[in-house]
This record gives sequence, C-alpha cells and structure tokens, in this order.
Amino acid sequence: KPIIVWFRDDLRLGDHPALWEAAGSGRPLLCVFNFDAASEGLRALGGAARWWLHGALEALDEALAARGGGLALFRGAAVDMIPRIAAANSASAVFWNRRYGLAERRIDEAVKSALARLGIAGRSFNGHLIHEPWTISNSEGKPFRVFSAFWRAAARLGPPAAPLPSPETLRFARLPDELSRLCLPLSALALEPAAPDWAAGLRQTWQRGEAGARRGLKRFLEDGFAAYAANRDLPAAPATSRLSPYLRFGNISVRQVWHAATAAAMDGGPHGERNLEKFLSELGWREFSYHLLYHHPDLAQRNFQSRFDRMPWRDDAAALSAWQKGRTGYPLVDAGMRELWATGWMHNRVRMVAASFLTKHLLIDWRAGEAWFWDTLVDADPANNPASWQWVAGCGADAAPYFRIFNPVLQGEKFDPDGSYVRRWVPELQGLSRPHIHRPWTAAPTLLARTGIPAGAYPQPIVDHDRARNRALDAYRELG
Ligand code: FAD
Repeated sequence: KPIIVWFRDDLRLGDHPALWEAAGSGRPLLCVFNFDAASEGLRALGGAARWWLHGALEALDEALAARGGGLALFRGAAVDMIPRIAAANSASAVFWNRRYGLAERRIDEAVKSALARLGIAGRSFNGHLIHEPWTISNSEGKPFRVFSAFWRAAARLGPPAAPLPSPETLRFARLPDELSRLCLPLSALALEPAAPDWAAGLRQTWQRGEAGARRGLKRFLEDGFAAYAANRDLPAAPATSRLSPYLRFGNISVRQVWHAATAAAMDGGPHGERNLEKFLSELGWREFSYHLLYHHPDLAQRNFQSRFDRMPWRDDAAALSAWQKGRTGYPLVDAGMRELWATGWMHNRVRMVAASFLTKHLLIDWRAGEAWFWDTLVDADPANNPASWQWVAGCGADAAPYFRIFNPVLQGEKFDPDGSYVRRWVPELQGLSRPHIHRPWTAAPTLLARTGIPAGAYPQPIVDHDRARNRALDAYRELG
C-alpha cells in the first residue's frame, strides 16, 4: 500500500520531513500536487507567484523523474481531491508539511477527517518554520506582539534541528488508470502568462525551483554574506540572499538556510558573527510574521491596531496608478516600483520606502499596496507581505511609529549614494549626476537638456514632501 506525499508550499526534495518519513517507510510513494482554487477562504495567488509556481512544479517533477518517478498534478478542492486520490490508490497514508493560514489549517483538518473516515492515516510535519507558532508564547501564555521578545524566546528553544538530506532512493507507486484520467499536464493549470507575456524580465532574473535555490544560497554565502550587516541596506549592492521566493515556495527550507549560514560564519572572517546574527534575525522576522498570521488570520485585511480603523485614507486612483507604474517623481520610489514590475522582486530597504510613500505621502490604505505587492512579487508571502505592510503603515505589531515618515530623497542619498540603483531602473535619469540624481527637479532645465532627458520624460513629484508629511501627521493626530 503506497503513501501519498502531498506537496504544497514545500516544492523540494531536501529537508522535506513528509517526504523523508514516507521514503523511510519503505513503501512506494505517490507524489502529488493539487492546485486548489476552489476551497473557501484560500487567497488566490497573484500573477508573479503563479509564474513562480509553474517553474517550481516543473523543477520538482524533473527532480522526481530523475529518481524514476514524477509529480502527479490535480486540480480541485483539496477536501474532495486528496481523499479521492488516496482511496483510488489504496494508500495507507497521506503525509504533508503544515501551513499556517486559517483557511489552509481548516482544509488540512477537513482532509484529515475525510481520510480517517476512509481508514487512511493523515500525518503532518513541520517543514516551513524553525519554531511553529504555538510553540512560542510569553510568560502569560499569550502570543508575542514585540519582535525582540519573540526572538529571545525563540533563541531559548535552541537552534533548529539539522536539515534532512534528500532521500537517496525513492520507490514510486504506479498511478491507477482511474487517477491517470484526472491527472493534468502542467500547461493545463495556465500558471504562466500567455498574451501579453509580461514575464520576460522574471525569466532573465530567476532560476525557479530547488537547484536555483541551492545556487542562490551558494552565491550569497560566497559573495554577499561577508558584508551582509554593512551592505544589506544598499539596494545597488548584491548583499542580500534573494532567497525570499525560494523560501516562500519551499524550494529551500529555513533550516537549510540557517545551518548553511551558521557554517559559513564559522570561517566568515572578522564580521562573521555580526553578519550571522543580522541574517538569522531576518529569518526571525519571517518567523514572527508567521506567528502573527497564525494568531491573527485576518492580517491581510484588518489593522492589527484597531485605532487605525479610523484613518482617513484617501481614494486616489491616479496617485495609486503613478505609484504602481513607478512615476511618482521620487527616483528611489520609482526605481523600486520598476524593479518590482521588471523582476518580481524589490530590495527590502526600497520596499520600506515605497510602502511608506504610499501610506504616508499619498495617504492611501496599506491594503491597496499589499494587494499590488501580492500580485507582482515572486515572493508574495501570506505572512511576510501583510505583516510588513502593517509594520510600515504603523498599524502593525511592533510597528514603526506612524509619525516616523521616510524622506524618499534623503533615503536615496543615504542608501544609494552614487545613484547607481536609480540609474539602473529609471533610465530617463541616467545622465544625471550625483547631486541631482535623487532630486531631479533641482537640475536646471539646461542641465536636463544636456543630459539628454527629453522634457516631461520623467514626472515632477506628484506630491510635495513637506506638505504630504504634514497631511499625514494631521491624519495620524486625528486617531487620538
Ligand atoms: P535577506 O536579507 O537575504 O533575508 C533572508 C530571508 O529572511 C528572506 O529571504 C526572507 O525570507 C526573510 N526576511 C528578510 N527580511 C524580512 C522581513 N523584513 N520580514 C520578514 N521576513 C524577512 N518578504 C517576503 O518574503 N514576502 C513578501 O511578500 C514580503 N513583502 C514585503 C512587503 C513590504 C512592504 C516590506 C517592507 C517587506 C516585505 N518583505 C517580504 C520582507 C523583505 O523585504 C523580503 O523578505 C526581503 O527583501 C527578501 O530579500 P532577501 O531574500 O534578499 O532577504
């Protein structure tokens, strides 16, 4: 009797507890992915995430094929499909790694009950986090609301277990005819854009799947890590790992990343320890976001601090569109929004500045920005995205205070001092020199003409910084 391994946000073979346990049983396996757009409450994936998912499924199928099997694809509500697949296969059990959103947890419980009614075991594992949300609480047994205290409590639990290797040999079950008929080719899921094909920049930027994750981790540890603490805020420097989409879809596990970074820090030169601490604490923010999502399932819909329910957000379609297109007239914001559109990713410092600009300078509801990021980020994450948006907007847990408003010009001058990031993503400004690159409106028209920028090619600022800042502060004061 085979075991079904149900893949979800864990599209890899290495450090995959469900696969490892199933393989260790000696039984034949059936590896399954079910594309579920039918279950209630599940948030539909955005365009960039769908694109990523396509590549990650393809890569997983190839990796399984290299071991003599493959990934069987299905589509439908999991609570119907998984028990049906298990029954048709006369499976002894279904194994999977856990997810933490409310809808996902409800689905898993329903699947487990349906399997139990068929006499089939459903077993779940932790493949996504260092510590699952219910394992960490404060002295009153309540969830944490402050990151530093959360992270200290997590540290007391010790480092994560060593990652599991990829199973060397796998034995696969044959798909019964009844199931073969239900099985879909990847193209049937239509996850990649057809016309228009907006994914060219994404394809150039990323190698999706587990091999891409391994390569990215190696490159980071060899090139970026040694100056991570010093350079991680500089968007032009290749200083951060860019592992976020791989972690989002489980093409790599957080335990693999943790242990590889820890090993690299051992011989990582004079700053090894500082780099490691900083890097692990970023993984800690990911853990904290999942902690928040678990305890506040409506994180993407509802202000964590309810007094923000009274915030007089502005409805301004033109400003929202200028922000989305990278045409606000503030070079750092625009560079970030264009990097996002072109590659499906944006540097963390620039995400903070762009999100602050939307919620404070434009006074537009953070949920509009969160939704845009959800659609355009390859790492669009059900926990990190809403938690980070709420953090920037000031309404989140342990959030940046609302009255601390980033000045996008000063942020640019501090973190992109020579303007090379802006020049890469805002080609209209390529000819501008250092004093003007983050404030192009200060360049005299003759200078602009000499640099070859056609008049009107780059917009004037859509809001004045001081006025926008005061408007945001007034709105905030009204909250009381
Ligand atoms: P590194 O610096 O190399 O960090 C390693 C890993 O730690 C990342 O891959 C990521 O998994 C995690 N991490 C790093 N910073 C954070 C953080 N601040 N919060 C939570 N986890 C973090 N991250 C996402 O993964 N998905 C999102 O949808 C997302 N949306 C964001 C929206 C906004 C408005 C902001 C300000 C941040 C958002 N982040 C999101 C967090 C962060 O920007 C990205 O994780 C980071 O830029 C990814 O780059 P990296 O892999 O090179 O990070």
